[in-house]
Amino acid sequence: MRLILLGPPGAGKGTQAKILIDAFGIPQLSTGDILRSAIAAKTPMGLAAKEIMDRGDLVSDEIVNGIVSERLDQDDCRAGFVLDGFPRTIPQAEALDTMLKTKGMALDAVLELTADPDVLVGRIAKRAKESGAVRADDNEDVLRNRLAVYREQTAPLVSYYRGKGMLKSVDGTQPVDVVSAAIRSVLGR
Ligand code: ADP
Repeated sequence: MRLILLGPPGAGKGTQAKILIDAFGIPQLSTGDILRSAIAAKTPMGLAAKEIMDRGDLVSDEIVNGIVSERLDQDDCRAGFVLDGFPRTIPQAEALDTMLKTKGMALDAVLELTADPDVLVGRIAKRAKESGAVRADDNEDVLRNRLAVYREQTAPLVSYYRGKGMLKSVDGTQPVDVVSAAIRSVLGR
């Protein structure tokens, strides 16, 4: 099962990715998590990404395309994967198409989690409070920027994948178990 999870920040991609990896025994490929590990390890890539991420802007396509291409070559991705947070721009989606073709892999579906921006601001404010703001990008100003970046750069992917007949949309504002049941249902699994 090869899947992309698409949706605005706070729509529940990470939560649903974890449920899917348990259900299908496939890894979650989160570019956000990989970048945060690079920051924690103070690698050159992490140092370059930190300020950009703290502002809620996007790291360059070149960096994230490289991360994903390398990750897809690891053994555990042979059984499939859930891409969470990638692609986030049309050029990333085009790079992914090429990568998958080269690697002889085909996507099964692109799952869009939909959510109203007001719900998202509330959810992330709650996450920041509960976690003691561990993530520098979980504050309201940065979140508003991340939502704007989503609208401008990532939302066009919805039409991109709809045009390829791959898009399946699920209302991400429902309770977690209702969302995961809806995902299983649209996947027919
Ligand atoms: P969330 O799941 O809350 O939407 P992520 O953890 O996926 O957030 O991403 C956090 C930050 O990491 C983004 O705001 C961005 O700066 C960077 N990032 C993650 N994935 C990508 C990507 N595919 N392209 C560019 N930047 C990315």
